[in-house]
Amino acid sequence: MQFEVKDYEVPEPTAGALVLAVRRANVCGSDIHQFHYDSPALREAVLGHEFVGEVHALGAGVTRDNAGQPIAIGDRVVPVYFVTCRRCAACLRGDFGMCANSLREWSKNPDTAPHFSGAFATHYYVNEDQYFYKVPDELDDRIVAGANCGLAQMLFALDHTRLAAGCTIVVQGAGGLGLYAVAIAKERGARVIVIEGVPERVTLAKRFGADHVVDMASHPTTEGRVARVVELTGGLGADVVLEVTGVSAAFVESIALARVGGEVVSVGNLNVGEGFEIALSPGVITRKNLRVQGILRYDPWYLYRALEFLRRTHERFPFAALAKEARPFNELDAAISDGESRSVARASVIL
Ligand SMILES: [Zn+2]
Ligand SMILES: [Zn+2]
Repeated sequence: MQFEVKDYEVPEPTAGALVLAVRRANVCGSDIHQFHYDSPALREAVLGHEFVGEVHALGAGVTRDNAGQPIAIGDRVVPVYFVTCRRCAACLRGDFGMCANSLREWSKNPDTAPHFSGAFATHYYVNEDQYFYKVPDELDDRIVAGANCGLAQMLFALDHTRLAAGCTIVVQGAGGLGLYAVAIAKERGARVIVIEGVPERVTLAKRFGADHVVDMASHPTTEGRVARVVELTGGLGADVVLEVTGVSAAFVESIALARVGGEVVSVGNLNVGEGFEIALSPGVITRKNLRVQGILRYDPWYLYRALEFLRRTHERFPFAALAKEARPFNELDAAISDGESRSVARASVIL
C-alpha cells in the first residue's frame, strides 16, 4: 500500500472540457477507504476528489460555468467530482446524484487518457459531463477545498430531511462532514447535539456552535449516549439523526437516538459486506415510525449552493480551522495518515 508518482503530458481539453491546475486537495473518508481496498483495479487509481483548482486550459465552447458566470484561464474553480450524463434513467428522472454513469471517470488507472482523473495530482481533467463553478474571490482555498464533496453532500442530505428551526438534530461524528452539518443546522435555527470522541473534534464542534457535545470519552457506551440524548431532548429523542461516522454500529445507535416519528439519515456508512454487518431488529424502525434514508452524492447544483453558503457564512463559522493541517504534496502519505487517525477534521495537501 503505497503511492507512486507518475509523469504524463498534461492533455489539451476536448470540446466542452477543461483542465485545472490543482491548488489544494483534501483527504476525504472515501479516499482512505479506497486506499485500503484490495481490488487491483482500485489499487492502481488516482485518488483525490475534494479540492479546488484553477483553470489551466479551456476546451472549445467553454466560456461559462454551470451558473452562467464567465470563465477564463486562471479563475479558481470547483468541479462536481462525478459525472452527470443527463441521458440515463436516473438523470431523466431528475435524480442527477444517482446518475448511472456517475463514476465513469472515477478512479481510473492513470495510464488511461486523459490521465488526470484524480485530485492528488498537479492537474485535473474536468470532462464535458461534469458541472463546475467559479469560486467567489472572498473564499480562500482552505475554506473552499471541502465544498465539492463534504459541504455539497451535507446541504443535499439535510434538504432531504424535515429539519427546521427549533428542531433537534444529532450529528454522529464531527469530522469534515459532521462539522459542515453543524454549521448548516445552526444556520437553519436548529438545536445541534454532536456525538464525538476525538478531543480536537469535540473542541471544533463547540467552535462551530454545537449546543451540546456528547463526548464519547465520558459516554463510552451506546446506552449511555442514548440516555444522554434522551435527557437533552426532554425524554423524546432527536427529530433528525445524521450518521457521518462510517462506523456500522453507529447506524444501530442512530435508530435508538431518533424520536418516535423521527428521521435517520445515513451518509457515512458506505462499505458493504463482511466486516460491515450489524445486528438490528427491523421492528424497532416500524414501532418508532422512523424514516430512514441513505444519501450518496448530490444534485450537481448543490455545489453552487455550497459556494453561496460559504459566501454567506464564512465569517460566522471557523471553516478554515477544519482543514488547517495542510502538507506539501510530496507528503501525501502522511496526509492520508492524518486523515485516518482522525486527529484532524480534514487532512489536506497543497500543490
Ligand atoms: Zn469525498
Ligand atoms: Zn445519468
